[in-house]
Amino acid sequence: MCTQVVAWGLPKYVGKQIANWIYRHRVSSFEEMRNLSKQTRARLAEVAYVGLSEPVMGQKSKDGTIKYLYKTKKGNFVETVYIPSGDRATLCVSCQVGCKMGCRFCMTGRQTWCESLSTSDILNQIFSLPEYDNLTNLVFMGQGEPFDNTDAILKALAILTSAEELGWSPRRITVSTVGILPGLKRFLDESECHIAISLHNPFPLERERIMPIQKAYSIYDVVQLLRQYDFCLQRPHNADASKQRRLSFEYIVFKGLNDSHMHAKELVRLLQGLDCRINLIGFHAIPDSEFVGASAQEMEAFRNYLTHHGVYTTIRASRGQDILAACGMLSTQEQQRQIRQADYPANS
Ligand code: SF4
Repeated sequence: MCTQVVAWGLPKYVGKQIANWIYRHRVSSFEEMRNLSKQTRARLAEVAYVGLSEPVMGQKSKDGTIKYLYKTKKGNFVETVYIPSGDRATLCVSCQVGCKMGCRFCMTGRQTWCESLSTSDILNQIFSLPEYDNLTNLVFMGQGEPFDNTDAILKALAILTSAEELGWSPRRITVSTVGILPGLKRFLDESECHIAISLHNPFPLERERIMPIQKAYSIYDVVQLLRQYDFCLQRPHNADASKQRRLSFEYIVFKGLNDSHMHAKELVRLLQGLDCRINLIGFHAIPDSEFVGASAQEMEAFRNYLTHHGVYTTIRASRGQDILAACGMLSTQEQQRQIRQADYPANS
């Protein structure tokens, strides 16, 4: 903000004043920024605007989850999921329209990549949320890969966690990645937010078949990098866990694909000595997919093996499946198709 206002010919401190008005007082015009001079407000009105972009649509699940559709500044569409649960309310934020990673179990991965969101489009999903005041946690696990959009993500995290701006605790924010090493390293060095790694298979060749990113960045190298940082395992009754950075691994359990004793054993070996937890996730079937999710009993048996061998493991509850808001189900392909049709009418 400070660099931008200097470019507009204004003093650097004006940037801090503007940030304070926007993020703390949530004003929607320069006129409301009462400690700025009349000339400064007039100059700002010439070069910029303040405003939120409300969601264009909301769908509510029978479990209370709400999926919102936002329009980006470039005119594309992106989804955001609000997940209330007891005294917590989590927002699952997106960072791209579509995704280049092509994970084979994910609807977003099937959608053509259109856009990496700007910092303001990322933050807009949070500030424009009708339930903003209820939010307790943020997870960057929506559409897109955060470290394929590292600059915008790190800037959004810096604004969210800056004491002068929003003052969110980094311990209430989790960023999830498939493991793009340069972005992951920058994140680990520059941010204190929690990190989640999409693992899904401990054997490189098998992982590559469902996650093409494995060819570029092996899970072995990802784990090797993570070993160079300190994390704190979040177990129940562990008082320190709320104060330190947490590392978790996401593991969708597919029937007959990654749920064997051999996979569980290899997971224990791969993660040995790391202060981390594994979140087991049920597979949410997507159209024309060859994958089948493991049953609840199979997931419990898998969890029990890991837990008994020293890897703290939980099974994540599925939310918003009936409105296609659960893990791996987000897609704005249909809305994007309508934009393309409007741009290129069939008879043109
Ligand atoms: S799982 Fe994440 S990284 Fe993989 S295709 Fe889907 S959105 Fe992209």
